Amino acid sequence: MEGLTESPAEKPVYWNGRPYHSLDYHLRHTFGEKLYRISLDAGLTCPNRDGTLGERGCIFCSQGGSGDFASDRRLSITEQIEAGKRQSAAKFKGNGYIAYFQAYTNTYGPLPRLRRLFLEAASHPDIRALSIATRPDCLGPEVLELLGEVNRIRPVWVELGLQTVHERTAALIRRGYPFPVFGQAVRNLRAMGLDVIVHVILFLPGETEEDMYRTISRLDRMDIQGIKLQLLHILKGTDLADYYAAHPFYIPRMEDYFRVLGNCVSLLRPDIVIHRLTGDGPKELLIAPLWTGSKRYVLNQFHAYLKRQEIWQGRSYIHV
Ligand code: SF4
Repeated sequence: MEGLTESPAEKPVYWNGRPYHSLDYHLRHTFGEKLYRISLDAGLTCPNRDGTLGERGCIFCSQGGSGDFASDRRLSITEQIEAGKRQSAAKFKGNGYIAYFQAYTNTYGPLPRLRRLFLEAASHPDIRALSIATRPDCLGPEVLELLGEVNRIRPVWVELGLQTVHERTAALIRRGYPFPVFGQAVRNLRAMGLDVIVHVILFLPGETEEDMYRTISRLDRMDIQGIKLQLLHILKGTDLADYYAAHPFYIPRMEDYFRVLGNCVSLLRPDIVIHRLTGDGPKELLIAPLWTGSKRYVLNQFHAYLKRQEIWQGRSYIHV
């Protein structure tokens, strides 16, 4: 396995009792409090859906543009934030929130409109940071300038949907840009002082375990600050659902996912914040894997697995 060696002499590392650099730990140490992420729908689209690059989007993308839990796009950003606060009131007792621009491609639109959207979120008194999901091929110089400007008001994280470093898989899932575009975007974002969070999907069709570990090892060598690891979900109504029906491919059992995910955590550079370890797609749309239906249960089981296997983030990371 590339980059994976045992280092049994080293002691486990913990971040507030967890053997990985969790988002919860990062938020408490950076902001001094737990923050709740409010999903927003800025009413934008995506070049992979509006015909610029393609019309059907990435193969796994559902109608919400991978933002199925985002808010009502007819509402203003402020109204969506207030609605998010009300909806989270029963489970979240804190005062600070992250404005998560989740639906579709959130830097794809006229600059004045993007400026209005981001500044409206940044000026809300309860918003502590903005997290902006986008594509690396939608980060031109003017957008970068704008993000840098907003970052001076509130911290801005930019979430990039990479999914894999392998071009053949990228072609299969119709990602629509080659890996070097991602590398350049990371360098540009870092030059503006913005944090980069990378989305990776595990168990994409045709990928071996080695392929997945190579994706992690490649990201370890890049200047990224966070990662979202997600197991591939097959959702009703997506082209992936049709592909799966026509060409059934391997769907891991929970034990197999834990083994691969555990190795990814072990390979991951310790300073990279893990924002997500599993998917949480809408249950009514989920075709497979059905065992992911209870996110809380899966996470608890994975934490127990990490403990049993004495895995911690960076245990197998090799600094080169
Ligand atoms: S880039 Fe995002 S919004 Fe666009 S098609 Fe792919 S997953 Fe959907």
